[in-house]
Amino acid sequence: MQGLMQRGELLISGIIRHAARHHGTTEIVSRRDDGRIDRTDYAAIEVRACRLGSALRALGVQPGERVATLAMNSDRHLECYFGISGIGAVCNTINPRLSQDDIAYIAAHAEDALIFADPALLPIVAAVAPKLGGMLRGVVVLAPPAEMPECRLPAGIALHCYETLLAQTAPLPEWPVFDENTAAGLCYTSGTTGRPKGVLYSHRSTLLHAMMMTFADTAGLRAVDRVLPIVPMFHVNAWGLPFSAPMAGATLILPGRQLDPASLLALLNGERATLAGGVPTVWLGILNHLRQSGESFATLRRVMSGGSAFPRALMAEYAARGVHVAHAWGMTESSPVVTWNAPKPATVALDADAQLDQQACQGRTVFGVDVRAVNDAGEVPWDGATQGNLEFRGHWVASAYYRQPETAVGPEGWFPTGDVGVIDAEGFVTLTDRTKDLIKSGGEWISSIAIENIAVAHPDVAEAAAIAVPDAKWGERPLLIVVPREGRSPTPEAIRGFFAGRTPNWSVPDRVIIADSLPHGATGKVLKTELRRRYAAPDAP
Ligand code: ADP
Repeated sequence: MQGLMQRGELLISGIIRHAARHHGTTEIVSRRDDGRIDRTDYAAIEVRACRLGSALRALGVQPGERVATLAMNSDRHLECYFGISGIGAVCNTINPRLSQDDIAYIAAHAEDALIFADPALLPIVAAVAPKLGGMLRGVVVLAPPAEMPECRLPAGIALHCYETLLAQTAPLPEWPVFDENTAAGLCYTSGTTGRPKGVLYSHRSTLLHAMMMTFADTAGLRAVDRVLPIVPMFHVNAWGLPFSAPMAGATLILPGRQLDPASLLALLNGERATLAGGVPTVWLGILNHLRQSGESFATLRRVMSGGSAFPRALMAEYAARGVHVAHAWGMTESSPVVTWNAPKPATVALDADAQLDQQACQGRTVFGVDVRAVNDAGEVPWDGATQGNLEFRGHWVASAYYRQPETAVGPEGWFPTGDVGVIDAEGFVTLTDRTKDLIKSGGEWISSIAIENIAVAHPDVAEAAAIAVPDAKWGERPLLIVVPREGRSPTPEAIRGFFAGRTPNWSVPDRVIIADSLPHGATGKVLKTELRRRYAAPDAP
């Protein structure tokens, strides 16, 4: 219709163009493997991403072709995000913590034409390359010439130096324009249940998700923020932070390989981070480090947490240290954020204790997506009590898996998450469990998340996991495995006693095992499959 608003394609290149033009001197900080800190800015990142776009074309990369990264969080990885998607190719971020078998499977399934790899991760590429013959044309090492490692690759796969490639290439004069529904990113699930599955993000979905993360009731990113994504850029695009930060003009602080608590705290404080995102395991480690060292947070005020439940007791401890922890829930299949925990008028009216209860749930649905809980009879009421299988749909939810025509998504777009939970009258979602982790005892469901939340509130407990063990009388019973805090030695009886009055008697774990550590998977989640193998198999101790 004549006189209607202008319309442009929602392209990822538009994000970096905006950041370069309006926040050109805003800092991007990268910590290298040797601990050195390098600084650049959005203007330089855009020029280099444009050089990369040209270089990719010179290497024959076509629109729609997949180009992989195997890299930690760094400025060069950020340039790959923008350079690869900017020319209409697809950036396939691969998780280097997966098994070599899974990495080879992903690169072959995606038919990656090139792999951009950190020097330290090159041995993985060398090991899987023989399985990728015929498809993989080259490996680009994310390093300057002086830091190029030795590497033998099969014939037909070329080895390139990233900085040499960029230096030899003139930047694209401008970013190409194409349909916003073009594929931009490809991220595989961690494959805890079978082979990894590919989720193909579009320019439009990525841009809308990034914009949502600047809402005041989500990450609320501002130009004065200094954002440290601890969550890796190979895991669901670091939850979209590398797109939201340049959109808002916020600084990115990229931590590289040193992800131990002391190194992270030094970077958070040394680089004056205001907001950071990471899985609960990371925040638990940092908290234990603070408890032991007596150090504190200098500037950090907000934490974004997801991937598994952040225990209520730890939220209280973070609040006492001046840091607000916001729970977000979602999956690789939803880009990932679907709910975010931010108050509503009804919840700010609650007393402090009830507010903390509220803060510990997974939050409420953000604009752009929708959530429901269903059982066999249909959608369950929002009464905070009736459990259902959680489903979501919306602008950044997958319609199917990549190159896997069979899909569980219903005709109306509802994606079955495999999570179980309740929704309250205000729309807040509380996750009970992943379906496969629920404990069914005598016809009642016991939430492992609820059991773990109580266990870590015990002053002697650092980390806890509850699993189901087969039981002749009840079908299943909960077993709790706890890792004590440094220097503490709680007894199983003391831990069991702590549950009295905090949960119904029938849901108190029958057995408590004290362990030195818990096994974690490639994305930081406790590996319950491994715990079940160790402790719930018929011949387990
Ligand atoms: P994976 O590849 O293992 O599926 P995801 O990061 O996509 O990795 O995992 C998504 C799952 O993580 C969700 O289905 C849910 O079970 C769990 N999860 C995500 N966020 C939260 C949260 N805030 N609280 C509890 N569990 C969460």
